[in-house]
Amino acid sequence: MLPFNKPPFTGKEFEYMRQALDNRKICGDGEFTKKCSRWLERKFNIRKALLTTSCTHALEMTAILANIQPGDEVIAPSFTFVSTVNAFVLRGAKVKFVDIRPDTMNLNEQLIEAAITPKTKAIIPVHYAGVACEMDTIMAIAKKYHLLVIEDAAQGVMSSYKGRALGSIGDMGTFSFHETKNYTMGEGGAILLNNSNHIERAEIIREKGTDRSKFFRGQVDKYSWCDIGSSYLPSELNAAYLWAQLETVHEINNDRLKSWHRYNSALSDLAKRGDIELPFIPEHCTHNAHMFYLKVANLEIRSRLIEALKRQGIDAVFHYIPLHSAKAGLIHGNFVGEDKYTTVESARLLRLPMYYGLKESDVMMLLDVINDFYGI
Ligand SMILES: *Cc1c(COP(=O)(O)O)cnc(C)c1O
Repeated sequence: MLPFNKPPFTGKEFEYMRQALDNRKICGDGEFTKKCSRWLERKFNIRKALLTTSCTHALEMTAILANIQPGDEVIAPSFTFVSTVNAFVLRGAKVKFVDIRPDTMNLNEQLIEAAITPKTKAIIPVHYAGVACEMDTIMAIAKKYHLLVIEDAAQGVMSSYKGRALGSIGDMGTFSFHETKNYTMGEGGAILLNNSNHIERAEIIREKGTDRSKFFRGQVDKYSWCDIGSSYLPSELNAAYLWAQLETVHEINNDRLKSWHRYNSALSDLAKRGDIELPFIPEHCTHNAHMFYLKVANLEIRSRLIEALKRQGIDAVFHYIPLHSAKAGLIHGNFVGEDKYTTVESARLLRLPMYYGLKESDVMMLLDVINDFYGI
């Protein structure tokens, strides 16, 4: 059996979780949470990083910080995970879905301007597979129309665009540390803030709408209800797990990249024959091997290839069903312009197993099945 994903575990997680227990502080914002957030700030050059209970929750915080009101609009790709847009819909926004570029599967930056109306508040680029959107163009459009840019960098930890970390470029960014992502804490994430106006308010929103963070720092002598908010801070046990992962970030990253390049070079013959297409990485981007996907000719071939792999015990999966055509998508948003690539390209994309510790022999076995399928 070759699973699609295995949650990363590098060895120190138990020890750090035990330390968190020994510290007699297992609720949020203890030593491990502080270590992780400081690490993220330094490593990725971010003014403020706050750990959250998920990337979904980090996105919800960005929607509150952006003051999204009923009737406001946000611009996002339809080819993404539901959380990217749910966060804004929860505040009453409508989603304007824009087509993707077929090469990176990211929001097509050339189509954003046509989707802007007087109600538009934010652009939400999603860095699919940890490969950057065209951030220079997106930031320039946002500046011209006074919009916020909120990066969904759930998949982009350790990736960069022109030397800058994904998640650190827009007004706000979010990371995911779910067990299916490159670095994990089970369930968890982070909100990344570059605008000083957002930082103090984010601490309050994350602490149930109170200034409890200031209270713990001794900056106020009692804490009280200051704003709307919720409980978005993770337990120290989760942060302790994450700390072990961040300490071994290069080991995990290099291991994933090795598997990624193994797939990419072994499949190049099939790509040359035109049977499949391989991922495209723009020259000014570095990526984190979050995902290895290939694109086959059409939906029918994809289903047959998934079956062929399954018969050999290999779990390969696809995603996403475009949001604009889903039940909730029809209610809460609409597609602007032509759906030239979103539906067609998503139907032919197939993700291969990718995780820390994926064995070379397993990759080779899988490649044999794919080559067999195409008769080479
Ligand atoms: C995984 C993912 C999320 C959600 O992350 P959680 O931490 O599970 O809430 C959001 N957006 C994208 C693009 C993702 O891949």
